[in-house]
Amino acid sequence: MPATMHLKAGREKSLKRRHPWVFSGAIDRVDGEPQPGETIQVMNSDGQRLALAAYSPESQIQARIWKFGDTKNPIKGDSTITADFFAQRITAAKQRRVGLGLTEVTNGYRLISSESDDLPGLIIDHYANYLVLQFLSQGTEFWRDDIIQALRASYPEHNIYERSDVAVREKEGLAKRQGLILGDEPEDSLTIEENGYKLGVDIKGGHKTGFYLDQRDSRKAIQKYVKDKSVLNCFSYTGGFSVSALSAGAAHVTNIDESLPALNIAKNNIELNGLNLERCENIEADVFKHLRLMRDQGKQFDVIILDPPKFADNKSQLKSACRGYKDINLWALKLLKPGGILATFSCSGLISPELFQQTIGNSAIDAGRNLRIIERLNQGADHPTSIFFPEGHYLKGLICQVD
Ligand code: SAH
Repeated sequence: MPATMHLKAGREKSLKRRHPWVFSGAIDRVDGEPQPGETIQVMNSDGQRLALAAYSPESQIQARIWKFGDTKNPIKGDSTITADFFAQRITAAKQRRVGLGLTEVTNGYRLISSESDDLPGLIIDHYANYLVLQFLSQGTEFWRDDIIQALRASYPEHNIYERSDVAVREKEGLAKRQGLILGDEPEDSLTIEENGYKLGVDIKGGHKTGFYLDQRDSRKAIQKYVKDKSVLNCFSYTGGFSVSALSAGAAHVTNIDESLPALNIAKNNIELNGLNLERCENIEADVFKHLRLMRDQGKQFDVIILDPPKFADNKSQLKSACRGYKDINLWALKLLKPGGILATFSCSGLISPELFQQTIGNSAIDAGRNLRIIERLNQGADHPTSIFFPEGHYLKGLICQVD
C-alpha cells in the first residue's frame, strides 16, 4: 500500500477541483517513508482518499497528482500506479492528436504537454522520427524507464533523445541530464514539416526541445497578411514565421535575433524550402536596441512580428515584463506603415490576456497610433489547456492593424 499524505483540514478544495498540485502549506503530515517520486495516496482530514500522486519532498509542490478519485470511483486502499498507467495515458494523448488532425499537417508536435495531458512533469515532443523527452519532476524521473518502454511500444521506429537540461529540475532536487536514450545520435538539423513547408530543428542544441512548436497556428495565421509585403520578424529564432511568410508570397523578410546559431538555421530553412535567399536578411542584434536604430534609419515595414522570450518567471518580474512588452511594441508601431499589421505575442503565463492587451494599448497611446485587433491567437492544439489547470494557458497573441 502506498504511503499516505494527510492534508490539513479544509485544504482539499483545489484537489476537489482536480488541480494537480499539492503545495507544502496544505500538508499536515506524511505517514510512511516514501522515497522521492514514489506513489503516495493523498487523504483529506476526514480520511477520504482523494488521489494517487508522486511525492516530491524537496519541491514547494510536494505532490503531483497522477489519478483523482471521485464519489463514483473512489481511490481504493490497495490501488496504486503501475507502468500500464503511463502506457495508457501516452496512447490516449497520441489518439487525441490524431483525432484533431494534427498529424496530417505536421510531423513536429507536442505529444505530451505535462499537466494538460494528465502527466504532470512530463514533456514529449515528436520531431519526424525522433521523440524528445523532458522529465521535469521526481515523479516522472521515478517512472523514466517505464515511460521509455511505453514509447518504444507506441513508436517502435522512433529514436529517443532526452533534453532534461532545464533549471526547473533543480527545484525538484534533480540534476540536469541530456543525451541519446535509444537509436541513432541525431543530426545537427532534423527536418520537420508543418503546414506545407519544411523546418530544420536542432534537438541537441536548440531552445526547449529544439523548436517552438506552440506557434504553429500563429505561423499559419500571419500568411493572410503578407503577400507582396515587407515583413520584420523580431525574435525570429530559426525563422519559422519567415519561412511561413515567404511561402505565402511575402516580398521580403528581415529576421532579428541575438542568437547566431538560430539565424544560421533560419538561413538554411530558406534554402530548404527553395525560397529566394535574396528575399531574406538576417540581423544578429538585440531587438530592443535595433528597433530604435531602424527608426533612426527611417525604416518602414508592412508587417511586424514580435515573439519575444518569456519576460516574467515570477510575480516580482511582472512590472518589468510589462515595461519590456510596452517598449518593443511601441518601437514596432513607430516602424509600421499606415494600414500595417502588428502580430505581437507573449508567452509569459503570468501576464493575462487582459493585461497583455492593456499593455499593447499603452504602447499605442505612446506611439500616437490607433490599433484594431483583428485576430486573437493562442498556443496550438498540441499544447492544450486542461480546464482544471488554467496555468497551462501561457501563450497569447494579437494581430492588429494600425491606422
Ligand atoms: N518566433 C520564434 C520563437 C521565438 S523564441 C518561432 O516561431 O520559432 C525567442 C527568441 O528570442 C530566441 O530565439 C532568442 O534567441 C531571442 N532573443 C531573446 N532576447 C532577445 C533580444 N533581446 N534580442 C534579440 N533576440 C532575443
